[in-house]
Amino acid sequence: MNILIMGLPGAGKGTQAERIIDTYQIPHISTGDMFREAITQGTEMGKLAKSYMDDGNLVPDEVTNGIVKDRLAHQDVANGFLLDGFPRTIEQAYSLKEILESLNKKIDYVINIAVNPEILVDRLSGRFICKDCGATYHKLFNPPKVEGTCDRCGGHNFFQREDDKPESVKNRLEINIKQSAPILEYYRKQNLVSDIEGDQEIDQVFKEVKAVLDN
Ligand SMILES: [Zn+2]
Repeated sequence: MNILIMGLPGAGKGTQAERIIDTYQIPHISTGDMFREAITQGTEMGKLAKSYMDDGNLVPDEVTNGIVKDRLAHQDVANGFLLDGFPRTIEQAYSLKEILESLNKKIDYVINIAVNPEILVDRLSGRFICKDCGATYHKLFNPPKVEGTCDRCGGHNFFQREDDKPESVKNRLEINIKQSAPILEYYRKQNLVSDIEGDQEIDQVFKEVKAVLDN
């Protein structure tokens, strides 16, 4: 069972990915891990990737594709895999098709954990920090016991990191939506996509994921 998982930042993709690999006993192939592995093992592609990263440059697609291809050729994906974080662009999606074809494989399911972006902005921009002691809070998940007062030091001065501000979060999401829309569309045309409502209890989300994969 070869699965691709997609979802915007904050949609809960990581949690669902963990559940999927535990339940179906397939390796979790995430871009970050793949890069780290290729670099530690000193593979040809790993060395190339490292040279770009050391110079502070983006790793070009052909190197990323090479790393994905190396990883998907491992024996442990014989019974399936969960791909996470790749493809990130439509060009990479085309490359993935070629890579899989060359290995006699294909994607069987695309699980899209979908959450309304406005909800994601609330989730992702909720973090704030006490100016006086550095304690961190989240307006939805971890608010101070008394509104406007730090639990730890009693201070009343809070701030948000640039990255946590709603405008930054919105920008990040918009870039993500723009990049993932053509990828989803590409897989939709192949009838591979299952949209799972991500704004529900984690167990319920996974129940719906499982219903798709067990079908
Ligand atoms: Zn404080």
